[in-house]
Amino acid sequence: MERTLSIIKPDAVAKNVVGQILGRFEKAGLTIAATKKLRLSKLDAKKFYEVHEERPFFKDLVDFMVSGPVVVSVLEGENAVALNRELMGETNPKEAKPGTIRADFAESIDANAVHGSDSADNAKVEIAFFFASKDIF
Ligand code: ATP
Ligand code: MG
Repeated sequence: MERTLSIIKPDAVAKNVVGQILGRFEKAGLTIAATKKLRLSKLDAKKFYEVHEERPFFKDLVDFMVSGPVVVSVLEGENAVALNRELMGETNPKEAKPGTIRADFAESIDANAVHGSDSADNAKVEIAFFFASKDIF
């Protein structure tokens, strides 16, 4: 069993496709171990994406992530990290395989519908950023 952090980003929340995206996780065999809707503060968004601090797109990324509410979830299952990345598709929706979340719900590399942890180690850090262990089931 493995856990990963999913964020449904402001573009997808605004499109009202939260249920459809969570449904894809469940259909693929992942369990929603925790979930909540919240709006990130600028400080939170900068901290969450601090590995990208030096990248040219950092400011736009932070501004986008605070532009509206997001839905953060802990997904649990076998190979949860890799499976979630597969369901998400490529970072750039134009390169994402048909049937992936980003191909179906995202418009651009900036507004790309979802985030998913990229390793089991990062997943632990990202999950702890949003959830106390007592709130994960
Ligand atoms: P995420 O971390 O959101 O799950 P990812 O792991 O597929 O996405 P990263 O390389 O970690 O992609 O980039 C983090 C986010 O920064 C991307 O989801 C995207 O929104 C944004 N981003 C990445 N590369 C670019 C780029 N070249 N131009 C604009 N935005 C970008
Ligand atoms: Mg990433």
